[in-house]
Amino acid sequence: MVNRVKRRVSCFPKATYYKPREIPLCCLEIANLSIEELETIRLCDFLQMEQSEAANKMGISRKTFWNDLQKARQKVADALVNGKAIEISGGEYVNSGECKVNFLCKECDHVWESKSNKCRPTVCPNCGSTLIFRIGGDGKGKRFIDNNYCCPKEKQQECSEGSKKSGNNSHY
Ligand SMILES: [Zn+2]
Repeated sequence: MVNRVKRRVSCFPKATYYKPREIPLCCLEIANLSIEELETIRLCDFLQMEQSEAANKMGISRKTFWNDLQKARQKVADALVNGKAIEISGGEYVNSGECKVNFLCKECDHVWESKSNKCRPTVCPNCGSTLIFRIGGDGKGKRFIDNNYCCPKEKQQECSEGSKKSGNNSHY
């Protein structure tokens, strides 16, 4: 693609990973949705904003918005129909400054919101712990699901077999 315009994004995802139940992570195919693709779905399908208004908000043409939206819908549909996981990360976007980011304290489970253009908090406002993690965000922060985290121990074998014969129903 030539001279790709950076999309303006006003909301970061609350969660960046969706996975079908009972299928181990390593046996899954992953549909990767970019931050700006999710934004098109949020504006158009969730907030039901007019496309021209949504395009304007993201700083792109209506045609570009429509193309992004189609790509996003196709990926989500693919994941739902074919039982794939959805990972929301990456892309080419700029933060409009309105984005809120959630943080979680590992010590006391306190969750709070912070404007993403402010400094990253260093301690939990509830208990003062420094063991805090960003939830979701731009995909560059800490992840709750490590991509190396795979199967629970007992499923290890079943899983490695399953991944060879991709698409079989051994887990049902
Ligand atoms: Zn805390």
